[in-house]
This record gives sequence, C-alpha cells and structure tokens, in this order.
Amino acid sequence: MIRGVDAVPGQPGPLPDEALDALVAVLDEVRMGSRSRAELVVRTGLSRGVVAQRVSELIDRGLVVEGDPGPSTGGRPPRQLSFQAHAGHLLVADLGASSIDVAVTTLDGRILGHLDEPADIAAGPDAVLDRVDELFERLQAGTRGLAGRAWAIGIGVPGPVEFRTGRSISPPIMPGWDGYPVRERFAARYGAPVWVDNDVNVLALGEWRSGIAVGHDNVVVVKVGTGIGAGIISDGRLHRGAQGAAGDVGHIQVAGARAVVCRCGNIGCLEALAGGAALARDGEEAARSGRSARLAAALDRGGAITAEDVAIAASFGDPVALELLQSAGRQVGSMLASVVNFFNPSLIVIGGGVARSGDALLAAIRETVYRRSLPLATRDLLIQRSSLGALAGVMGAAAMVADELFARGGLARWVGAGLPAADMTEDGSAA
Ligand SMILES: [Zn+2]
Repeated sequence: MIRGVDAVPGQPGPLPDEALDALVAVLDEVRMGSRSRAELVVRTGLSRGVVAQRVSELIDRGLVVEGDPGPSTGGRPPRQLSFQAHAGHLLVADLGASSIDVAVTTLDGRILGHLDEPADIAAGPDAVLDRVDELFERLQAGTRGLAGRAWAIGIGVPGPVEFRTGRSISPPIMPGWDGYPVRERFAARYGAPVWVDNDVNVLALGEWRSGIAVGHDNVVVVKVGTGIGAGIISDGRLHRGAQGAAGDVGHIQVAGARAVVCRCGNIGCLEALAGGAALARDGEEAARSGRSARLAAALDRGGAITAEDVAIAASFGDPVALELLQSAGRQVGSMLASVVNFFNPSLIVIGGGVARSGDALLAAIRETVYRRSLPLATRDLLIQRSSLGALAGVMGAAAMVADELFARGGLARWVGAGLPAADMTEDGSAA
C-alpha cells in the first residue's frame, strides 16, 4: 500500500505498488492519444485482464473517459478511451527578465487562456508574484468552460532553481529572490502542488513534449535571450544535474575573449559576449560612435538600443548589426561544438527572444558547430529553431507540471486521495 495517502470517503482508495506501475503505463498511453483496450494491450505489453482492470480504475478515478465506438475492423467496434483532460486545470507562469506570461491549460497542457505583459523581475518576488496571482485570477474568472480546480501550478524563472525545493538560488539578475519560497507561497494560496524550474529547462520540456524535439531522446535546447542557458534532454528525460544547475552554459568562459565583466561577477563569460544584453550594449556603442546610422536612428527614437533593434537592423542589411549577430552566433556555436563532442545530441534547438528575431544568428551557430565538432557527432545532427515561439515558456511549464503529476512518483502521492494536494511535493521525492 502507499504510505502517507489517506483515501477520501467516496473515492477509490490507494493502490498496491505493482498495480500502480500498470496504471501509470496505461495512463501514459492514453495521455498520448485516444486508444482502444486492444491497442493498450499491444502498446503496454500488459495482459488483457490487467489492462481492463487498470482502465476501469482510471475511469473510476475520473482520469479516463470511454468514448463512442471507434472504427470497426469486423466484429464489435472497440470503444476509444481518452484522457479526461478537462477534469481540472493547470495554472502556469513563465517569468522572464522583463516579462510575465501566464496561462491556464487543460490537464494535458492545451492552452485555454493566455495573458502576457511587461514586468521587471528585479522588482522582487512580492511585487512580481502578486501580479502573477492577479493574472491567474483573471484567467480563472475569464476563461470560458473552465472546469474543476487548479490541480497544479508551474512556474519558470530566469535563473538557477533548486528543483527539489522550488527555490531560486543566487540568481544573478533577480535581487531579493535568493532562497525565496515560491512553492510555499502558491501552494498555500491554491491548495495545489507547485513546481518551479528555470526558464530554460521549462523551454526544453515544452519543445520535447509538444514542439520540434518530439521523438528525440538526446537534445540540447539553447535559449538566447537576455542571458544564455541550455536545457538538456538525456536518454529521454530532462537532465537537471545534482543541484539543478546543469546546462548553465552562459557562464562558460570564452577563450581569448575581451575582458567583459559578466553579471555573475566573472570575466569573459559567453553570455556577457553573446547574450541579448551584450548585443544591446554593443549595438548602443555602435550607435553612439556613429558606426551604424540605422542603430543611431533607433537610439534617437527609443532612447536605448535593445537586442531586438540589432536584429531588426541586421534584417535590413546593416553591416554592423549583422556582424554583431554573426559574432554572437560564432561564440554560441563554438560553445555548442564542445557540448556536441561531449554529449552527442541528435538535435539542438535554438530558442529565446534573440534567436526568434532573425536568421543571421542561427546561420552562424550552424556553420560553427558543423565546422568545429567531430564528424561522427554531427553526421545526423539537426540544428533547428524553437517551434513554439512566444508560447514556448508557458507550454513548457504545463509540460513540466503534467509530467510531475502523472509520472509514477507523482501519481503515487495523490491517486489514492483522488486529487493532487499542496503537500505532495514536500519531501522532494518528485525531483
Ligand atoms: Zn557569467
């Protein structure tokens, strides 16, 4: 029996461990798409009897519904079983350095409502998370057909997160957030479990579950935004590392680079040379020194240069802006060539605001990776742009939450009680 889970009266009780394994296997299949019982037998390798039993348990627990008969192949047409994705909803937020994106989704991560607005992460956790609460409330009140309560909350933040506790740890651009209990705050308010991860892991999960990385088991997802970071899918699961800091490639030192001080305090970090903030800084310098008339005009209009201004200028053929993006692409590519030799991914996904804004950066990254990596590692390597666009963060946060809720370790903690509860993440075993 499952320890620490008390059955609610009227709800089906806890499951023995071996039954739980089969339940998770069947639920995983149904979450991927509607299936008949016969298909489930083939896909899970479980016996007919076990599949029938687990399916009726999932129906009893409100996680699976039986639909109309599907197409007949002779004889009685099989009934299709579907995941009950509307039994409740997920609330997710993707916090950027300068923006908040929130969404309400079905239990399988389909976005039902979405809001975004500019925000300054440096305003501190109280101000930013108060605003997230207000936006969550607005989504819950304003989304038509929203059923059930929030089953879970997912939050992506632009800095290092200790995944087990859901706390930011010494985030360089987030004053006041160090050690802040993001999980406890939302758990207390919504009575639902909360998972917090850094924005790049969230992006990687989104691309892997519903974007361009579907079907790949070894993927590096690089986010080139204000900073630079990477999420790693290794052998079919997100690799967070011992403390959750895996993939922090933005602070790898670039050999022979000019002595630029990074926001982390070190000198010559990749993101201090090739991240969005670096592009903005170098673009503004080119505008002020008169090397680029187009950037100078943008500076006059906006009062400052952003990475987006540099990308726009490059798309109009401005040679200085183009060289800035190409140089950034070569430096990111050079880092990635080392990663490719070390890790041998089948796909690299380039995402983030800077990567979205033009082709020059991606072209320079591709050229450098293929030139600098070993032939065996690049023989079948794909390097592609993120496919989820501006919704990637919230889609990823929803994918993270759905994985934690319905994976074996997560499901074991609540399926006996009937609904996920706020304290199911407490001892960190969902990490
Ligand atoms: Zn650094």
